[in-house]
This record gives sequence, C-alpha cells and structure tokens, in this order.
Amino acid sequence: MTLIISDVTVIDGTGGVPRAGMDVLIADGRFADIRPSSTGISSTPAGEPVLDGHGGYLLPGLWESHTHLRDYGASLPEPERFAHLKDVLAGYLAEGITSVCDLGGMPELSPRLRDASKADAAVASLFTSEAVFTGIDGWPVTGLLGHRSGVMEVGSADDARRYLQGLSLDEVDYIKCMFDGKPGGGQRLPRAALEVIIAAAHEAGKKVLVHIATGMDMREAVHAGADCIEHSPIPQDPGDLSEADELAGLMADAGTLHCPTVATWEQLAYGAYPDYLDQLITDGILTQDGAKEITASPTYGQPFPKHPAQECRVRFEYAMRTLPLFHEANVKLVAGSDIARVMPTPARALLREMQLFAKAGVPSSAVIASATSRAAEKVGKQATTGTVAVGSVADAVLLDSDPVADLSPLIDQRHVRAVVSSGHVVHH
Ligand SMILES: [Zn+2]
Repeated sequence: MTLIISDVTVIDGTGGVPRAGMDVLIADGRFADIRPSSTGISSTPAGEPVLDGHGGYLLPGLWESHTHLRDYGASLPEPERFAHLKDVLAGYLAEGITSVCDLGGMPELSPRLRDASKADAAVASLFTSEAVFTGIDGWPVTGLLGHRSGVMEVGSADDARRYLQGLSLDEVDYIKCMFDGKPGGGQRLPRAALEVIIAAAHEAGKKVLVHIATGMDMREAVHAGADCIEHSPIPQDPGDLSEADELAGLMADAGTLHCPTVATWEQLAYGAYPDYLDQLITDGILTQDGAKEITASPTYGQPFPKHPAQECRVRFEYAMRTLPLFHEANVKLVAGSDIARVMPTPARALLREMQLFAKAGVPSSAVIASATSRAAEKVGKQATTGTVAVGSVADAVLLDSDPVADLSPLIDQRHVRAVVSSGHVVHH
C-alpha cells in the first residue's frame, strides 16, 4: 500500500523551515521518502495513487494531548458507549486531529477503545492511561462524583510502591499523577510518593504527566522529575510575572514540557457569558447554530466542581500573559484542552487551545509544534510519530494555504484538502 503526495510544501512539525516543492512517498503506513519533486518520484512505479499536493501544505496530523473521553459518553447506557466513543474519535480525525491522549477516568472502556483505534485508520489513534495516582481524597476523587474508580489514592511512598506492584507498566502508555495542593481539595499526593512513581515509570520507559494547581506544586513536580506539567498554575499574585519567570527558567533547565490547558480556564471562566460565545463565532470556532445548541444543553452554565469561575479567570489571564515568557525561555509547550464543555465538538477545543496560544503571542510554527512533535514527545513517541519525517507514522493534514503564516487554515475546515491517517486518505 503506497501513496505519493506530490509537489507539496512540507511543514515537519518540529519548527524546521518549511520545504516547498517536495514529493512525499508513503508506504506501509509510514513516510518512506521525502524529496524534491524534480527528482521525479511521482513518475516512479506505475499505477501508484497520487494525491496532488500542488500549492498545498502538508503538516503532521494534530494531537489532542489532554482530554477525558468519559465526558463524551457519560449519559449513554453502557452498551452504547463504545460505539459512541469510536464516533467521537472519528470526529477528531475529520477535523485533522489524528491522535488523542486520554488522561484517565474510564478504566472500563479505554484499553479496549485504544486497541480498537490502533486497528482502524478511520478513527484517531488513542493513547490512554488508567494508571492515575492522587492523594487521599485528592482531586478528582471528591470533586467529580463517580470518578473514584481507577484512581489510586496514595498517602505515603509505601502506598505508591504497593500500587505499583499491582500494575503492569508495560500496558500503559504513560502515568498520570495529581499533585494538587489547592486548599480544600483533599490531601496532596506526598512528594516522596511522586518520586517513587516517577522512578518506577522511568525505569519502565514511561512518561509521567503531572497535574498541578499552584506554582509550588509545579516547582516541586519539576524537581521530582515530572515529564510534563498539566495545567497552568493559580498565581500567587496575578500582578507579578516573576513567579512565571522563575518557573519557566526552572522548566527550561529541566527540559520539562508544559501543557497549560488555557481553553479549559477560558471555558470555566467565561463560558456562561454570551460574549464568550460571540468571540468563538468571530474566531471561527463556532457557528450561530452551534452556539444555540450549546446554550440549550442541560449542563450549560453549571459550575464545574471546585473550580470557581473567578479563580479560573485569574488562572486564564495569567497564563495568557505569561505563555510567551515560557516560549521565550525555551519551555516546550504542548497543546491539550482538557475539557470541551462549551465547545461544539471535542476537536474544536484543541483548535481553540492552539488559537489561544497564538493570541497570547506564541509564533505559529511553535503552536504547530505544540500540537504535533511536542505532543508525541510528551508521551515518549517522538521517534515514530508526530512529525512529517521518514520513518514516522504517516498521519498528516493537507491544507490549501500556509498555517505558518497564520493558523486560520487549520481552524477553518474549508482549507483542509485531505486528512491522512496511517497512510490512508480518510478525508478528501
Ligand atoms: Zn484533565
């Protein structure tokens, strides 16, 4: 099974200079060769399917690197959920998102769904971990009703060791730790336990993604060896950028990735206000009809447990002011949206996250990297996916205009000429 995408501009997803006039050969689901069109691979073996890339831009398929699929099938009867979630994964693919990382909450379904996604090019590839650690009564155990299942509550380093003995680390894509020291949120996972978990994961070659609430959590998690910090912090003083400055320096030195989930703070802060929906319409994330559907939903305007709108507003504004500072300090930013409560589709939440990075002042090539190569790096798969490079999984989006000049062709689906999933053209 081969395919040639001819005469296209290649954006490799690592922030490298785009290369115009390339032929991209795909074989057995991987990028097999990338070379100038003039060398004529498009005229090699007769009968090979050719996708005309002339005037187009080929970039890696996008990644949603932080979501919880449980939110999308929760109201359905159990037997219908699997098929529904496969449809959700197909929906991601239709909007150019070829990989999705679930960060926990659905132990009864996610391993089976992950296996099914890997076998089916018509849906986005799912990465999952149901290895989720938190403190005693820690987030989300007492915050989200019914989500105690699959979450390991740890009160000491010994507790962590006991749980780790019962886990088969080979079977998880990564580990998620809740290291949340927000007052009133139950106990924080003890730092000594976090260190034990990280050491065990690294020994098994797995990444540890650490949810934080405060700058203090973030600092300690980085020192403990976290691979990626999930969420931007609640600042000590919203007017003082020096806390972010210090954290950015620390993360850059340690090589820790950062997934700030600003689209979540924006939704929780402003989602109940009509101005927010108007802004999404102006920004091409939402249509008028989509806005009507959102406001008609029974959950619309409901507060999110333990995340007051005012606090999320502070968190959002601080993250938007300090994202360029993290970028300029060479912290590797990763795009992940976390929730899609006030969004027309789960995929749109990721596109909003990317758009917010750009609005904050992060250059588009870095925004594209945050949703492609950096996301693959977050889960330790950068050698085999997340880039347009020889040997990588052939997941890609073909656009009719340049997303490095301006991200808008990624947002406005009319600019998407094709989506390629494991070498198969799935939308054209
Ligand atoms: Zn989350």
